[in-house]
Amino acid sequence: MSIKRVLHYGEPSLREKSKEVHKVSKKISDLVRDLFDTMYAQNGVGLAAPQIGVNLRVFVIDASTKEEPLEPMVFINPKIIKKSGAVVSQEGCLSFPEAYTDVVRYKDVMVKATNEHGKPFVIEAKGGTLLARAIQHENDHLDGILFIDHCMNRFEADEVLKKYNLPAIEPDKLLDEEELKSQL
Ligand code: ZN
Repeated sequence: MSIKRVLHYGEPSLREKSKEVHKVSKKISDLVRDLFDTMYAQNGVGLAAPQIGVNLRVFVIDASTKEEPLEPMVFINPKIIKKSGAVVSQEGCLSFPEAYTDVVRYKDVMVKATNEHGKPFVIEAKGGTLLARAIQHENDHLDGILFIDHCMNRFEADEVLKKYNLPAIEPDKLLDEEELKSQL
């Protein structure tokens, strides 16, 4: 299909709540291909539909590493059904070119979704792996939540944003994660 323009932090679609997919139609298969093409072109690990300006509940992930080869995955109408533990790591996002900061995430998640063939599946990602973190990061995009909303230190994150000419942290968007952080 084609490589799309990735929206950057500050563009309104990134803060919108995306709509459920009612049918895995050709439109959705085309969207999935565009997401993969765009993600691979930018060497990303995951990409969510709102990042290319389509506010539908779809994201793709390829969390393969040399040590652990994994299949590329498609998540349509995903729901995180179980989450536990906490982990901190540096995270970035294709919508925030070059900006990385420490964020807190659940260590283990279980997610239910539909694949590109319209088949439901459940996947468990444990141990704070790249896959576990990518699932949470991409799933957030569908609710207009961005990785910086989970930052460990808002002042540090703001410095990074400023350095890369991105808009500042939106204080009203910061998530209250004291309970999660207390598990670190
Ligand atoms: Zn992202």
